[in-house]
Amino acid sequence: MSELEPSDIADRESEPVGYARPVPEGVDTSHGPILYLEDITVSFDGFRALNRLTLTLDAGELRCVIGPNGAGKTTMMDVITGKTRPDSGRAFFGQTIDLSRLNEPQIATAGIGRKFQKPTVFEPLNVFENLVLAMKADKRARASLHARLGSEARDRIAEMLARVNLLEAAHRPAGELSHGQKQWLEIAMLLMQEPQLLLLDEPVAGMTDHETAKTAELFVSLAGSHTLMVVEHDMDFVARLGGKVTVLHEGSVLAEGPLAQVQQDERVIEVYLGR
Ligand code: ADP
Ligand code: MG
Repeated sequence: MSELEPSDIADRESEPVGYARPVPEGVDTSHGPILYLEDITVSFDGFRALNRLTLTLDAGELRCVIGPNGAGKTTMMDVITGKTRPDSGRAFFGQTIDLSRLNEPQIATAGIGRKFQKPTVFEPLNVFENLVLAMKADKRARASLHARLGSEARDRIAEMLARVNLLEAAHRPAGELSHGQKQWLEIAMLLMQEPQLLLLDEPVAGMTDHETAKTAELFVSLAGSHTLMVVEHDMDFVARLGGKVTVLHEGSVLAEGPLAQVQQDERVIEVYLGR
């Protein structure tokens, strides 16, 4: 067992874990929105995956994005996180952070967390250890995995595990969890970095009905203190979330509003729901 240097502990407790790189400035949501996408176009060999997409998210909202396969949902998340650079258009995090000026790790550090479809937990490690790793953003993570954690850190992890229904599974290897539990673990790992905006791409795909319902409860509880953008095909799940729904089609917004409203929109029925 390796031990932490006392100075490591002091460092870690004096600043929020996960914020290894200095952020140029805090996110300014004084005007309400936390994300502005304006006129974003992304082309792949002449094909427009995003076509002058304009979309705004208010701080604290729980937004669902739906749309047929190929509508551009994942590409939109790629643009927000800096994985794909748009050909044109503007992307801002809050009033002042121009996402086009930041690279992927800087965007993550600025407070945008993303969950991909496939869970990527460390299977041989137990659930608790996975969160320890997530809390330690730097390279010392592995070396110090078994070092004694401060009681604050332990409490924080336990709180997070309770939040995602995994407290009882804390000492089980992550590889033994159900698919849904792995998804929760990965969400918890993401939350340890304290992102303000969370992007979740098809989070309940492959979950049981019970797990899906629990996930909806979790997302509803996160809204307000976090902003969530959730891409999902499961309409029962979207209904449970209860937030505003954006329908993407051919790389732009086709409709936006409460689910019941967009479900009655003729254009939406034609391109998506009625198929
Ligand atoms: P969605 O997530 O809504 O299903 P995507 O954003 O994955 O849609 O894809 C939008 C369109 O862009 C699709 O037609 C897809 O084939 C295309 N596309 C996405 N990424 C690439 C890429 N790296 N190269 C070429 N085409 C891509
Ligand atoms: Mg997709």
